[in-house]
Amino acid sequence: MSTIFSKIIAKEIPADIVFENEDLLAFRDINPQAPVHILIIPKIEIASTLLLNSKEHSLLLGAMYDAANEIARNEGIDKNGFRLVINCGDDGGQEVYHLHMHLLGGRKMQWPPG
Ligand code: 5GP
Repeated sequence: MSTIFSKIIAKEIPADIVFENEDLLAFRDINPQAPVHILIIPKIEIASTLLLNSKEHSLLLGAMYDAANEIARNEGIDKNGFRLVINCGDDGGQEVYHLHMHLLGGRKMQWPPG
């Protein structure tokens, strides 16, 4: 089932896009939890991060990781560090069921997460 992220990919609703290539889109989170809070998503709809069971999906995850590092450099948070998060399913706190990686930085993070 499509989510709000499909509308962002289709440019039907606006987003502050910071990175785009053939497979991926990255944009600033509407409710940022850190000075830098960016969501990296595949352009194809993968509903749940729990259902990554194909080689194609694991390649996509690797590409998301590479994009996160590139964006972190662009955002100037690569030196001090940052956090990458994928919330998986209900217990993981996933709200939007379109695979996405959170890139958070620009402040000292706490551990453990809530
Ligand atoms: P999740 O909890 O599923 O891991 O994260 C979903 C994220 O999407 C949340 O951090 C939320 O603020 C963000 N989000 C939800 N709707 C929109 C939207 O329409 N635009 C943007 N930029 N972010 C959104």
